[in-house]
Amino acid sequence: MSNYNKVESALIHGGIYGDEYTKAVNVPIYQTSTYEQSGIGEEPRWEYSRTGNPTRAALEALIAELEHGKSGFAFASGMAAITAVLSLFHTGDRILISSNVYGGTFRVLDKVFNHFGIGYSIEDTTDIDGLEKKITDDVKAILVESPANPLLTVTDLGAVARLAAKHGILSIVDNTFMTPYLQRPLELGADIVIHSATKYLGGHSDVVAGLVVVNDDELARQLAFIQNSTGGVLGPFDSFLLIRGIKTLGVRLDRHVENAEKAAKFLSDHKAVKKVYYPGLPDAQGYEINKKQAKNGGAMISFELYENYDIKKFFKSLRLVALAESLGGVESLVCHPASMTHASIPYDVRQQIGITDGLIRLSIGIENIDDILADLEHAIAESEV
Ligand SMILES: *Cc1c(COP(=O)(O)O)cnc(C)c1O
Repeated sequence: MSNYNKVESALIHGGIYGDEYTKAVNVPIYQTSTYEQSGIGEEPRWEYSRTGNPTRAALEALIAELEHGKSGFAFASGMAAITAVLSLFHTGDRILISSNVYGGTFRVLDKVFNHFGIGYSIEDTTDIDGLEKKITDDVKAILVESPANPLLTVTDLGAVARLAAKHGILSIVDNTFMTPYLQRPLELGADIVIHSATKYLGGHSDVVAGLVVVNDDELARQLAFIQNSTGGVLGPFDSFLLIRGIKTLGVRLDRHVENAEKAAKFLSDHKAVKKVYYPGLPDAQGYEINKKQAKNGGAMISFELYENYDIKKFFKSLRLVALAESLGGVESLVCHPASMTHASIPYDVRQQIGITDGLIRLSIGIENIDDILADLEHAIAESEV
């Protein structure tokens, strides 16, 4: 079909390109809820925008192509996407999740899906042999992030997929931190890929969205049914914003990663910094596995300062890097996982999985790296007690 071979071109030309009616180079925002039908019993291509909308369909085709999958689905948020995927399961089923999944994923399992008798257990998914021992008859899926939030823990996605296949259960990967530009879990054997497209795919901190991609036709049929039945769909305007964001994903991520590699080095060399978590550093946990399954270490970094630095003061002293939830936008953001993104995880569990009160998570933006490093340097200096 295509007149291109490379991912950078697919980001711009993939999915459905342009408008067949006007030849507009961008897919228009089809801001409509319904479509006139030609007659009773004649199958219309479009009938109602919860079921399908041309702008959303263009985005869904694009993400499917980028993840090297067959079918894509767009949702009103990453959590709506995760909720749709979890809706595949039944009372009595249990899902194994990595020990540092996104706080909201933990919360929806712990506080919503438990109402329906769908269980979960938190496991160390970096230990494949240990993980296999946890697969009892009620376990129906393994849900992982790699690198995982917020300690950037790397899980061998191919090994998890093989383990899941061996036991006839699903392997689900939340690929938010990497995006298909850096890592394609379906190619490694995963069954389902999830994105919070709010992050790098949108890339400008101006849209909340979620995506799901699968290769299997039966899974696609079930997800289409769930998407239409539960209705957490992405609107046409937000679909347009995502398509627009994805066009620059390659150039943005190249710069994000270039900056992150420099920032990780800066922090590792800094006398105030106790520990740096970044999968692109050769001494990081899972460095070799990440190198094998992803293009590079991505652009998320977590770190801890020594005890003689006051982290509250550190956050207050930043002037460029903004204290905010979220990640993956063009602007550098910093957050305190223990009180922000992972606050929904109980204190004891947080300590157990390494999300200490001193942990700082950085989403490195695409500003000039000198400005980012100067801001970090200044805030570290101010926070010394
Ligand atoms: C933000 C995030 C989510 C949730 O997505 P929303 O778009 O905020 O609903 C899920 N997984 C990861 C890894 C995230 O970073």
